[in-house]
Amino acid sequence: MRAILLEQFKGKMEVKNVPDPKLSDDNAVIIKIMANGICRSDWHEWMGDWEWVGLFPTLPIIPGHEACGLIEEVGKNVKLFKKGDKVVVPVGLGCCTCPSCQIQNSNNCDTLRIVGFSFNGTFAEYMNFPDADYNLFRLPESLDYVGGAALGCRFQTAYHGVVSRGQVKPGDKVVVYGCGGIGLTAIDVCASMGAYVIAVDIMDDKLELAKKVGAHDVVNARKTNPVQAVKDLTHGGADMSVDALGEAETCLNAILSLRNRGRHVQIGLTTQAEKGNVSLPLDVITAMELSVNGSLTMPKHQYAQMLTHIERGTVSPVKYVTKTVTLDEAPAIIESMTEYKTLGVNVVVF
Ligand SMILES: [Zn+2]
Ligand SMILES: [Zn+2]
Repeated sequence: MRAILLEQFKGKMEVKNVPDPKLSDDNAVIIKIMANGICRSDWHEWMGDWEWVGLFPTLPIIPGHEACGLIEEVGKNVKLFKKGDKVVVPVGLGCCTCPSCQIQNSNNCDTLRIVGFSFNGTFAEYMNFPDADYNLFRLPESLDYVGGAALGCRFQTAYHGVVSRGQVKPGDKVVVYGCGGIGLTAIDVCASMGAYVIAVDIMDDKLELAKKVGAHDVVNARKTNPVQAVKDLTHGGADMSVDALGEAETCLNAILSLRNRGRHVQIGLTTQAEKGNVSLPLDVITAMELSVNGSLTMPKHQYAQMLTHIERGTVSPVKYVTKTVTLDEAPAIIESMTEYKTLGVNVVVF
């Protein structure tokens, strides 16, 4: 099969011919990939980031973790899926048996596996997907393959972040720092739930897209002090802030944009500049009684709630898909993320 192979961090990634995957065990399935989203996490993986958080792949590896496809083959213990079923690949896989997995909080699994980091991912014509009955999702009829790919990682991650960890509610004033795929989803979900949303970025084209997706006001942090702008627009500070990028500056500004008892949601993992360590104003957090909440992927029990929201609300992962591309075009797009050049979500169609 054809697949992107990451052989060296920051090296040239290429599409190569590699052997087709085989079922790893009786609980696994083989999925024929139909569409796969390109994500900033792919860029972090190419850069060799996240060793400090235990997300360091053994090379060579096939990256990719935002896929939608068709079941090609099933292991003999798999009961819930059959050949031809349309499925969405979740980014994080639970083990099924640890205390968190037993209460369906699969994203907090003691041995969480990340597609494309812990094992070969989805920039490939086929993938082996382990523990399918516990982890795999069905593609809803309302979405095509491209929509399913856009649902795979960033939509779920942002949805869990703002709904579960941030507890967004109608009337909240929300600020979202970073208008990539995660940020756009956070804006969309918060606006659809009746919040007033401010988007912050440093590029005007990304802010324009944020407006189309649902942001009520936008702030270009290159032209204006974003913390002061948010304080002015919200008359004192936001109820909830989201750092959808994961850099020291965006994290700090997001927290400083809050009002008393505000809630911060940290969705983006950091870069090599921070290696996970960001200096925070602890006395401000204490004196203002702020909450700082981490958020990682989405627990499996939330999938049904998210689908209901998509089918009954105004949110849609398809809104942010700006371009479909070929597998051969994907490596250059991933590398271009160093300059933050991608707008919205790019999806590889096979
Ligand atoms: Zn992703
Ligand atoms: Zn587990």
